[in-house]
Amino acid sequence: MRPDILNPLFAETSGLDGVGPKLAKPLERLGLTRLRDLAYHLPERFVSRRALADLDEGSEGEQVIIALTPVEHRAPRMGGRGPYRVLAQDTKGNICALTWFGKAAYTAKKLLPVGETRWVAGRLDRYGDMLQMVHPDHIEEAGAAHLERLNEPVYRLSDGLTQPRVAGLVAQALARLPELPEWIEPGQLAQSGWPAWRDAIHLAHSREHPEARERLAYDELLANSLALLLVKAEGRRRKGQALVGDGALRAKLALPFALTGAQARSITEIEGDMAQDAPMLRLLQGDVGAGKTVVALNAMLIAAEAGKQAALLAPTELLARQHFETLRKMAAPTGVEIALFTGRDKGRARESILMGLLDGSIQMVVGTHAIFQEAVAYRDLGLVVIDEQHRFGVAQRLALAAKGRRAPHTLAMTATPIPRSLTLAQYGEMDVSRLDELPPGRQAIDTRVVAMERIEDVVAGVERHLAGGQQAYWVCPMVRELDGVPDMADIAAAEARYAALKERLGDAVVLVHGQLRPEAKDAAMERFASGAAKLLVATTVIEVGVDVPAATLMVIEQAERFGLAQLHQLRGRVGRGAEKSTCLLLRGAQLSETARARLALMRATQDGFRIAEEDLELRGGGELLGTRQSGDAAFRLASLDQVQRLLPVAHSDARLLMERDGGLTSARGEAARVLLYLFERDWGVQLLRGG
Ligand code: ADP
Ligand code: MG
Repeated sequence: MRPDILNPLFAETSGLDGVGPKLAKPLERLGLTRLRDLAYHLPERFVSRRALADLDEGSEGEQVIIALTPVEHRAPRMGGRGPYRVLAQDTKGNICALTWFGKAAYTAKKLLPVGETRWVAGRLDRYGDMLQMVHPDHIEEAGAAHLERLNEPVYRLSDGLTQPRVAGLVAQALARLPELPEWIEPGQLAQSGWPAWRDAIHLAHSREHPEARERLAYDELLANSLALLLVKAEGRRRKGQALVGDGALRAKLALPFALTGAQARSITEIEGDMAQDAPMLRLLQGDVGAGKTVVALNAMLIAAEAGKQAALLAPTELLARQHFETLRKMAAPTGVEIALFTGRDKGRARESILMGLLDGSIQMVVGTHAIFQEAVAYRDLGLVVIDEQHRFGVAQRLALAAKGRRAPHTLAMTATPIPRSLTLAQYGEMDVSRLDELPPGRQAIDTRVVAMERIEDVVAGVERHLAGGQQAYWVCPMVRELDGVPDMADIAAAEARYAALKERLGDAVVLVHGQLRPEAKDAAMERFASGAAKLLVATTVIEVGVDVPAATLMVIEQAERFGLAQLHQLRGRVGRGAEKSTCLLLRGAQLSETARARLALMRATQDGFRIAEEDLELRGGGELLGTRQSGDAAFRLASLDQVQRLLPVAHSDARLLMERDGGLTSARGEAARVLLYLFERDWGVQLLRGG
């Protein structure tokens, strides 16, 4: 249960003064649903203003605050569309134009009565031979309050919110902050110059304060490390079951290829883990095309040999289907019973799978998160394989783990090549197997950057490619998403491209994007996978895992709009067969330095790990981890730079705390529980007795 002390922080923002239904949406978009979220909505930067005695002291482009007295209102002419201007003078009689466009002008009328002095804050620029301020940030009656405007936070906004609005809400939240018990050792606080939690929040909102921000980031990292350690400790406490396979089923596999060294090594590592009482918690990290599926199959067969069931969890229905088909084909000679289970199954089909899982006649199941719904019970689940781990939280993993009478072994697979420095943050203390060797015979993908103006040549090239009997992908960007809903403009662009290509190339073209009904999407994918369709036009829905070895050309439109990790994943769709593959990165005319560097890197290497490392460099320390490119939003406060510096510290501190007080019962342990709830990492605490 959440400690009572946190109740004020978990109060909903809808209860604050001035928050009506109109603000609810924009607040939700920013993730600001609780007072805690407002407290942690730290300013992106601060504007510092200079207080001017008169306009002569100011210069263009400067942020200032100054006392001005309106002398004349100039409304736009009747029906005119010009701005609304108020001419106002300083103490020396210099004139400044205060300018508004659009509806905002009505506020100006009320706020600036002629002859009455006001403090006006904003950015100075020039209008003819006069200084002007366009849309001043603040207009206030004369008084000392203007001093607060000299240094002001700038918050991230969403449509429907303004700076003063957010600042006002933050102020309300800050006024209600409770005192929390300290979870950091006093010695460490003193040594780092870190303020107490409550002070740190206040300071971080009021001015540039590196120590305050660092402390808050550290808190988040500590919470994360602690939670992962709790999960790991729980895994150790809860007995798993040692699964030893006799190799009988694996011997029946008739693979058309020999395993790579890396695959064989990974399987041995997994086999070793599964033979232990303690549940396996292993991450299989391998670039696209490295051959993770066959490793997973081997692990699943070990479970079956030991008389247990295995479940493979895929992030999307499309991938579940594809995994199912692949596994069924590969596993056919072994005779194991394998089923596909998705949320779409209804009626008799659903019942029969549920029965089979309950009585154990189904040995392997592949599916989406539907496989750990309440209604699904297993006879004896021994292994869970999670594909693309980053899409699932640890919480879901635990839900699945709770299904078995004993904790099942877990193998998580990811193609996201995470830099070594960040693996710990993302995956905690999981053991890692790396497939750092591609199957033999893979040819390098010929990658070229082509200017968008040459699109006619590219289309002609695609035409020749298809005429030669090969298949191709054409990817359109779908980068923007609001509230998890794909941007319709992007969908429209993909549809327009599809229409144009279809005109030119005929019925061999199919379209797939995230707004299609699942049946339509699957039908298009199936036509492409079977070779009936030759060109697949798609948004990034094909990013993960689609496997069509006969597709040997990948065209990526507006490649500069994609992140490196995404480009790498997309390119990995080709180069899967024996034929030489090509990837064309179509770029727009305007390229930033970073975009240029990214495309150059794509041309230079195919090594996912190297791309990941350089991606980190290119994005620099300022950007938050929680971007779509990095797969999942691990942290909301800690920047990449802070993660790299502070995570090792937080992690070893968490470990120390767990060693001394694994049950979190000491005073500091209690404080740490508060911390875990504060960051909603309470799935760790709930494993503890009395959590
Ligand atoms: P991943 O899931 O890691 O991206 P897959 O498991 O889909 O990769 O494998 C990619 C392709 O490589 C598949 O067509 C698979 O059959 C093939 N493959 C896997 N292992 C080997 C191997 N050792 N030798 C040759 N081909 C392999
Ligand atoms: Mg795969």
